[in-house]
Amino acid sequence: MLFDYITHPSPTPEAERLAAIADPGFGKCFSDHMVVIDYDEAKGGWFSAALGPRKPIPLDPAASVLHYAQEIFEGMKAYKLDGGTMALFRPEENARRFNASARRMAMPELPEKLFLESIRKLVEQDKSWFPPVEGGSFYLRPFMFASEAFLGVRPAKQYKFVVIISPSGSYFKRGPAPVKIWVSQDYVRAAPGGTGAAKTGGNYAASLVPQAEAIEQGCDQVVFLDAVERKWIEELGGMNLFYVFDDGSVVTPPLTGTILPGITRDSLIQLIREEGLELREEPYSIDQWRADAESGKLLETMACGTAAVVTPVGTVASHDGEFTIGSGGPGQLTMKLREKLVAIQRGAMEDTHGWVMKL
Ligand code: PMP
Repeated sequence: MLFDYITHPSPTPEAERLAAIADPGFGKCFSDHMVVIDYDEAKGGWFSAALGPRKPIPLDPAASVLHYAQEIFEGMKAYKLDGGTMALFRPEENARRFNASARRMAMPELPEKLFLESIRKLVEQDKSWFPPVEGGSFYLRPFMFASEAFLGVRPAKQYKFVVIISPSGSYFKRGPAPVKIWVSQDYVRAAPGGTGAAKTGGNYAASLVPQAEAIEQGCDQVVFLDAVERKWIEELGGMNLFYVFDDGSVVTPPLTGTILPGITRDSLIQLIREEGLELREEPYSIDQWRADAESGKLLETMACGTAAVVTPVGTVASHDGEFTIGSGGPGQLTMKLREKLVAIQRGAMEDTHGWVMKL
């Protein structure tokens, strides 16, 4: 497919760009290009891939995404290695997960090569937007939505795939300080047979009220329980969980279709096994969590995801009261794995897994 290149008619003035990336925060600063690829069943699939200026996308008011939420996205980062080379972390995994989400939402798959090529071209185009701040990265947001103007409930026949870049600083304002999490007892995120394993907008819309409840309760993040027994711990609104025990074993919930298969989760599983620790993918209940934290059997709990990498969980709160994990401070294994993963991602440690794709 032809990748048209449209030069920028009015690039952001340098002073404005430098001011924007000096303190980018998370998810509110954007570079000035984007990739758009169109899909039309009548035209035989994907056509017209273009890299051009970032601008609003014209949308018919009847576009199915606005009514039935046929939408999926990915979240991934580009880093700058020492020496200035830009690099992606396991981007093929994001391409694969994107297509898994597409299948669940009855959307067309995008060839992995096209997904990766879009990201490569956009990062190359906008690399002057890389934030010169501690822990800075490009947060990349590839997404796809149903653009067909049609109000019947059926899979759309026209879609748009778009990629934008958000130059970012650290996700949590306090850096890797322990977070306090709120157990959602009134709301669930995903049910068996639902869309929990897909990265689709609706899952995040459904998490906003419980997340607001978490903030109201003085917590940073919400943790969801399973929808059937309401006792198995699933994941946070945007991160997977690991539990570290005093016998040298580590547990993370299994991928049963209700949690997102995190790429950080998969990377940590490998790193933990390489530490010589026993890693088990098995369900872990909220009651056990409290009991193990109180008895001292549970040493650490860590949350992981692309945005915040690896973050210690310090305190857990719910309608039944609070409990502290370990001393409430960052655990040893949590910090060790965090440093290791960050070092691999940023090229400070040898990439023995072939996870880093240099651009
Ligand atoms: N769970 C949810 C619900 C998420 O949104 C994310 C972020 N994509 C994760 C887990 C972590 O996934 P990853 O490590 O691939 O960022």
